[in-house]
Amino acid sequence: MLVFKFGGASVKDSKGVKNLLNIVKDYTDNLIIVISALGKTTNALEEILKTSIEDLNKSYSKYEDLKSYHLELVKELFPNENDKIYKDIKEEFDNLKKELNNKTYSSYDKKYDQVVSFGEILSTKIVSAFLNSQQLSNSWVDIRKVFITDDVFREASIDFEKTSINAESVFNFKNQTIYLTQGFIGATNDGFVTTLGREGSDYTAAALANVLNADKVIVWKDVDGILNADPQYFQDTEKLDKISYQEAVELAYFGAKVIHPKTLKPLHNKNIPLFVRSFIKPEGSGTEIDCFKKYDQNLPIFILKKDQMLISLFPKDLSFVFEDELSKIFKYLSEHRIRVNLIQNSAISISLCIDNSNSKSKQLIERFKEDYKVLYNDQLELLTIRHYSEDAIQKVTKGKKIYIEQRSRHTAHFVIK
Ligand code: ASP
Ligand code: MG
Repeated sequence: MLVFKFGGASVKDSKGVKNLLNIVKDYTDNLIIVISALGKTTNALEEILKTSIEDLNKSYSKYEDLKSYHLELVKELFPNENDKIYKDIKEEFDNLKKELNNKTYSSYDKKYDQVVSFGEILSTKIVSAFLNSQQLSNSWVDIRKVFITDDVFREASIDFEKTSINAESVFNFKNQTIYLTQGFIGATNDGFVTTLGREGSDYTAAALANVLNADKVIVWKDVDGILNADPQYFQDTEKLDKISYQEAVELAYFGAKVIHPKTLKPLHNKNIPLFVRSFIKPEGSGTEIDCFKKYDQNLPIFILKKDQMLISLFPKDLSFVFEDELSKIFKYLSEHRIRVNLIQNSAISISLCIDNSNSKSKQLIERFKEDYKVLYNDQLELLTIRHYSEDAIQKVTKGKKIYIEQRSRHTAHFVIK
């Protein structure tokens, strides 16, 4: 059994949906297809919700735009205007409107999930109906009945035990060989919709593969695979052919945006390989992430994490940075969910490179000032080079001001401006 995941970019228009059909129809295996919301629908829903809180009427015009976008697509895919899908989509938009008007939710995040989750309901209904209309028989699954999560809205965690029991009964390959379902969403025990964090559909695919012991997962993207650098920032990028789960975790952690960091654990736990392949060039081999022992491509990997802040702390009385001090510092960071990407310490100082989120960083600095002399720089970048060579380092650090440099056997980090 395979799990495929198609992101919003792959189904943003009728050409994309037809391309999906072409890719899927070549497979004869049992298959689960996980799909995200069409194009930038999730952003649009966030916008509609935000506007609705200030000005309901204004939000309706954005709502109508989103409705037209979906109905346009339906029109291009289903020439018969009596097709049931027209009614289904209009009905879902009615439901969406009800949620926008619903004032009973105890928190913004809870309402957010009830509203934003419609993106995936809509996209999957359209694609599933289209595949069926093209003789690719498949069953639409409401993943809200399968994925049971806690009630941390917008960042829900999956209850793997309950989810696994549900999944086994719902995805029954004796009855059907292709199932199609939503990424990104789930539901609490008492039936409220939850979301798994933005860009969470990769994670859905991985979690499903885990509970159903899939043979592999293929994430279809608009790039050839995972590249050795982000082409937005680096020239001459090349595709990585094979990397280990550990390597992929390192890349995701230090800021490579190709795969959602949470995706790897459920796959690694069951040794399920993950392929990242191009929906534009589906014949390409893509990147395979698996339990490879060694990285043997001899290609340095560059990862740039922007908007970093470097904070250096010096005890006021020149005392050493003892363990107690360190534990106080890290307790504060963990309580405020501040991500530390790099640490460097000396006998009397410690420097931390953190993701700069303005309000949090300011508070953090004020708090540290109570106990330490504090120096900081912002608007820095953290450049990580895996499998580095001197040439590679030269090439990307030339002309930059380096604040911190750290090298281990396989990895070099530079905090730069
Ligand atoms: N549609 C959701 C988002 O844009 C989930 C996803 O695309 O993975 O965040
Ligand atoms: Mg998306």
